[in-house]
Amino acid sequence: MTAGARRARFGKDPGLDSWVPPHLLMRASEKCGETALLRHPLEDAEWRLRFQIIHDRVRRSGDPAFSRIAEHIAALIHRLDPLMTAYCRATCPGCPDPCCHGRKVFFNLTDLIHLAVLGEAGVPGQTRTSEGLPCRYLGPKGCGLSRRARPYVCVWFLCEPQMERLRQEPIPIQRAFTAVLQEIRRARLLLEALYELTVESGDGQGGMTANGD
Ligand code: SF4
Ligand code: SF4
Repeated sequence: MTAGARRARFGKDPGLDSWVPPHLLMRASEKCGETALLRHPLEDAEWRLRFQIIHDRVRRSGDPAFSRIAEHIAALIHRLDPLMTAYCRATCPGCPDPCCHGRKVFFNLTDLIHLAVLGEAGVPGQTRTSEGLPCRYLGPKGCGLSRRARPYVCVWFLCEPQMERLRQEPIPIQRAFTAVLQEIRRARLLLEALYELTVESGDGQGGMTANGD
C-alpha cells in the first residue's frame, strides 16, 4: 500500500464533540485513564454473567449513544488493522519473545462493555481462568480473535521493532496513526463514563455495580 493510500485509509475523524452530550464529555474528561477493574482471571460462568448484566443494562437504558460510541471505536480499530497486520507479518514470525506469552494481559471492564454493546457474544471468556495460564486465544497462527474483539491493550501495543517501523513512516502517517489512537482512547473513556452514568441513574437492577463487582 502506498503512503498516500495508507494516509487516506486513516482518514479524518468525524469528531465526537459534534454528537456526544456535554454532560458525558464532562464526565469522561474527569477520568485520568481507564479502569483496571476486571483485569484478573475469571471463570467463564462469571464472565457470561457479567456480559449478560452489562448487555441487559445497556438495552434497558435505550440510550443510542452506547452503540454509536462502540461502533465508532470499532471503526477506528478497523482503520488501524492494515498497518498493524503489516507490522505483525514483518516482525512476529521470527520473534524471540512473543508478547502474547505474557501472563498479565486481561480484558478490563471497558473491554467488556464494548463487547457487550457490540453484541460480541463469541468471546467466551477472560484471557485466562487462572493466574499463570497462557492466553486462551493464542493459537498456532496468532490471535484467534478479530482485532476489535481483543483486549484493547492488545490492539494499541507496538513492540520496539514495530515502533521502529512506525518511526520510518512518513510524518503524516505517524500523525494520523497517533490521532486514531487518541480518538479511541477518548471514545473508550466516554463509553466507560456512559456506563457509570447509566448505573448511577437507577437502572441498577442486575446485581453488578459500575465497578463491575
Ligand atoms: S508484536 Fe512484537 S513482541 Fe509481540 S510477537 Fe510480534 S514481534 Fe514479538
Ligand atoms: S488476546 Fe490475542 S493478542 Fe491478546 S494476548 Fe491473547 S492471543 Fe495475544
